[in-house]
Amino acid sequence: MPLLSVPKEVAVGTAMLGIAFATGVLAGKRYPSLVFGTPKSHKSLIAKNSPLWQYILDHSLREHPILKKLRLLTLEHPWGRMMVSCDEAQLMANLVKLIKAKKVIEIGVFTGYNALNMALVLPDNGRVIACDINEDYAKIGKPLWKEAGVEHKIDLRIKPAIQTLDELLASGEAETFDFAFIDADKESYNEYYEKCLRLIRKGGIIAIDNVLFGGNVLKPRKDDLAVQSIHRLNEKLLRDSRISISMLPMADGVTLAFKL
Ligand code: SAM
Ligand code: CA
Repeated sequence: MPLLSVPKEVAVGTAMLGIAFATGVLAGKRYPSLVFGTPKSHKSLIAKNSPLWQYILDHSLREHPILKKLRLLTLEHPWGRMMVSCDEAQLMANLVKLIKAKKVIEIGVFTGYNALNMALVLPDNGRVIACDINEDYAKIGKPLWKEAGVEHKIDLRIKPAIQTLDELLASGEAETFDFAFIDADKESYNEYYEKCLRLIRKGGIIAIDNVLFGGNVLKPRKDDLAVQSIHRLNEKLLRDSRISISMLPMADGVTLAFKL
């Protein structure tokens, strides 16, 4: 039995996404370039309905059953494809374990797949500071955080992430975090990166998602602020002497920045 029944999920997700996108509204809110720009602009480098993707999952994915439950539940949501890719989430969990992280930040929680993913590998006194502006999404995942017994490790903060990061800095938490995942509004990526860099300790890691933005970074359109922002950050990170980096062609591209 494959771990992911790709065709059905993709078909349902895509159809619902189309409807939600056509109307441009969800729960009374518009989602313009909030995360992707257009549905086409956000793809995995390996197609999610391809045999190769299935092979990768069949030969590497070790997903906690409740994490799988949340992934399948999230895929039923009209914006399900905002969810982090499960192979990428597993890499982050492995990094979190490797560096023995205790305090992590997630910028852009959605239904909380990756928040749960990281909480599952943190020690019992570990914390995920989970930043989002939309509580309705997190309400989908919360019961599963509880079912997995890690709800106490996820500190959900519903307000603009910049505000949460500023509060953490103001309360003297600079250099006390081990890991951060940046995955919210792309236009603010540079600010998220700069604030996370202050919050992370030396040897800590910042993972930045969607750095290839469906390939659009090759020719960033002037009117696409999300791609412009990501492209500018990619150029800056290459020359940033405060970090060493790896840009991985995984999912929609993820850069790992290791604080020196
Ligand atoms: N990391 C998530 C996961 O594990 O599936 C996916 C995050 S989704 C791509 C982006 C999220 O960013 C959405 O839930 C959206 O509400 C949130 N977001 C957008 N603008 C934000 C802001 N200014 N501050 C905090 N969150 C924001
Ligand atoms: Ca993403």
